[in-house]
Amino acid sequence: MLFDLVIVGGGIVGLSCAYYAKKKFKSMKIMLLEKEKCLCKHQSGNNSGVIHSGIYYKPGSFKATMTTIGYKKLLEFLKENSIDFKIVGKLLVAKNDSEVATLEILYERGKSNGLKDLRFLRGKEVNKVEPYLQAKVALVVPQTAITDFKKVGEALAYHFINAGGDIRLNTKLLDFDRKYSGVEIVTSKGRFFTRRLLICAGTQADRFGKELSRNIKIIPFKGVFLYLKSNFASKINHLVYPTPNLALPFLGVHFTKGLNGTVKVGPNALLSFKREKDQDYLQTFLDLLDIIFFQGIYKFVSSNAKLAIKELLKTVSINHFLREAKVFFPDISKVDVIGKDYGIRAQACFKDGKLVDDFLYVYSNGICNVVNAPSPAATASLSLAQKIVDIVMEGNDE
Ligand SMILES: Cc1cc2nc3c(=O)[nH]c(=O)nc-3n(C[C@H](O)[C@H](O)[C@H](O)COP(=O)(O)OP(=O)(O)OC[C@H]3O[C@@H](n4cnc5c(N)ncnc54)[C@H](O)[C@@H]3O)c2cc1C
Repeated sequence: MLFDLVIVGGGIVGLSCAYYAKKKFKSMKIMLLEKEKCLCKHQSGNNSGVIHSGIYYKPGSFKATMTTIGYKKLLEFLKENSIDFKIVGKLLVAKNDSEVATLEILYERGKSNGLKDLRFLRGKEVNKVEPYLQAKVALVVPQTAITDFKKVGEALAYHFINAGGDIRLNTKLLDFDRKYSGVEIVTSKGRFFTRRLLICAGTQADRFGKELSRNIKIIPFKGVFLYLKSNFASKINHLVYPTPNLALPFLGVHFTKGLNGTVKVGPNALLSFKREKDQDYLQTFLDLLDIIFFQGIYKFVSSNAKLAIKELLKTVSINHFLREAKVFFPDISKVDVIGKDYGIRAQACFKDGKLVDDFLYVYSNGICNVVNAPSPAATASLSLAQKIVDIVMEGNDE
């Protein structure tokens, strides 16, 4: 069977690409393959549900542009599809002078990225909006929202199928071969022929050949969340985030509210030896080998050893986790915790041990691979989709 475009991966990025491609190229035959029996099983279905404003990212970077445009597109999509969301706002918290200096950098970045009504709260002003929070200074970011990305994924799939798109679940891309006028793909459910191939495989993104991953390796990071009981959750009004370390693409342990009022603390970021939650032992062993034989990992760990130990302690001990949470809400204790879960994040890493900070895709001759789509790719998915699909369909990268 011949397709105009095959998209691999039924996470939020693949689904957004499928939705946008079918909307723009109505008559084209487009198929999306997902190896699992349902959509959004991995990162997209296990995230914090935050629609990020774009305050963190360097003005002019691909991430900043995609996030600020994606934020607006996503809110429009949520309204059009009657999917619940809430603009709750976020407080970025500084505990000392050096963090205040970082918040000032973020304030300038936010303004350059077009964010409105950013403001600083100091001392007692903080407790007028967040009575139980301990902070020297807090930066208020009103344009931060929450939603359920699984519902977004379902709506994207619904529109794609309604417009004539084809979704094949339980269908894994195993291999592909360039032919004269397209690509022959080998899947667990047979062979297909497509003019163009777009891979949005999340934690598996580096497994499609060196040319398409530029020798970058995906490092999986486990992110553990604690769920808070409703009596403590009701004490928190906003999303509350620490001042981030601008050298790393992680936001630090934070407090996020769900649409139903639940509050999660986390995630932390611990090196994981497996890339997916429910995979078998053999796959975990293969994932482990992949990491062991990647020289970049040793460079990353040696330059971030202190951080790695801190993250490990938080994963094995609730007390360590809470120690970090207590810096913001000193009253929090073990009795306020009702449960625990985790997600695994894909983070691309260069051979020299540096993490790839920006979103990254590699396009070559009819095939595109989305190599790095870490947070906030769920927020940015609709703008990323427009950019990537246009490149794949027009057949060139600028
Ligand atoms: C704990 C956590 C918290 C986060 N919080 C936020 C947040 O609040 N806001 C935000 O914007 N972002 C957040 N993110 C990031 C965001 O969730 C991800 O950036 C986004 O979901 C990536 O989407 P994706 O489609 O690239 O990957 P995924 O959702 O992982 O999807 C990839 C899909 O490809 C499939 N696949 C892989 N290989 C194959 C193959 N060979 N054949 C067929 N199918 C294949 C997989 O089964 C999977 O379904 C968070 C991530 C995590 C893990």
